[in-house]
Amino acid sequence: MERILLLGASGSIGEQTLEIIKDNPKDFFLVGVSVGHKINKLEEILENFSSIQYVCVQEEQDYLELKNKYPHLYFYYGDDGLIDIIRESKVDKVVNALVGFVGFRPSLETLKEGLNLCLANKESLVVGGELLLEAKKKTKANLYAIDSEHTALDKCLKNHSKEEIKKLVITASGGSLRDYEGNLEDVTVEQVLKHPSWSMGQKITIDSATMMNKAFEIVEAMFLFNYSLEKIDILLHDESIIHSLVEFIDHSFVADIGPTDMKTSISYALYNNERKDVDVKELNLAMLGSLHFRQLDLKKYPCLVIALTAIQKGMSSRVVLNRANEEAVHAFLDKKIKYTDISLIIEEALKEHKLQRKLDEYQIVELDRITKEKCQEIIRRYTCK
Ligand code: MG
Repeated sequence: MERILLLGASGSIGEQTLEIIKDNPKDFFLVGVSVGHKINKLEEILENFSSIQYVCVQEEQDYLELKNKYPHLYFYYGDDGLIDIIRESKVDKVVNALVGFVGFRPSLETLKEGLNLCLANKESLVVGGELLLEAKKKTKANLYAIDSEHTALDKCLKNHSKEEIKKLVITASGGSLRDYEGNLEDVTVEQVLKHPSWSMGQKITIDSATMMNKAFEIVEAMFLFNYSLEKIDILLHDESIIHSLVEFIDHSFVADIGPTDMKTSISYALYNNERKDVDVKELNLAMLGSLHFRQLDLKKYPCLVIALTAIQKGMSSRVVLNRANEEAVHAFLDKKIKYTDISLIIEEALKEHKLQRKLDEYQIVELDRITKEKCQEIIRRYTCK
């Protein structure tokens, strides 16, 4: 029985993690959760899981009200609350399903404390992968990715030596705009939020359309499996049934094929990268009939091009890339800027910054803060256009 702390419990990954925990009471004991602003959802979770003792929320006001309402529980709030709940809840495993930069410090803290980390927050690796690996090495904690492509790669790589492997191939659906033929300037938020094969949170759905998500997944694969950028390819695949592939030196491939349901990936991570029976709809390949692949047209994905350049440069450009993307995506979701402004804003933010190849935790947090301010200035200019 493992004691679990789930950060980001009210999001898409968080909810599916709760279902797996509920279905497997002999294996998992939910000790703590964090949610951002969805207090109604938190109260539902508290009703469903009487095992919860530790709770973190974003706002102080919510914290004060909840403390009164549930005097038998321990409450925390804000970014520092996420660190304290990790230190004090005495768990075996932390599931980090937070969205965006806010997930970075909790990831690092988890590994520093020597706790196993199931990581859905890929931004943690984007901004500070080097630090996460360093901490993990020091404490011998384990890191399990919750991301369908990386779960797939882990399965394909198992029992093979590095000498046998030619390339890692990450599949991409191409996002909600892959077949869009009109002017991208006119694309609405609602159109971008309609993903062709996955049902996910808002930020990651936008990141899928721009392919920033794929750029982040490349960084994720670089750190998780220790491969350089040149050894990782992207393959456009319409149905998202092949989750990723490994190409070997004898030119054969091994692919991981499965339903488009994140529960498979979450379960694999929760069970320390082991396969278990999981409650997802079976995939009928005969019914599916055929699978489709396409050549990646980089002209359609300026964010991906910008991101791949930034990734090659070094740590600080990845921090700026991540924050600029986060700010631009939120501005688009708030209908302040056009879809095509997202890449322009990220490009401007990266142009203004001075490269630093090595940063510590506090320098990352500071650079993120400065970049946020700068991006808000840039976005104001775009909003006035
Ligand atoms: Mg993915």
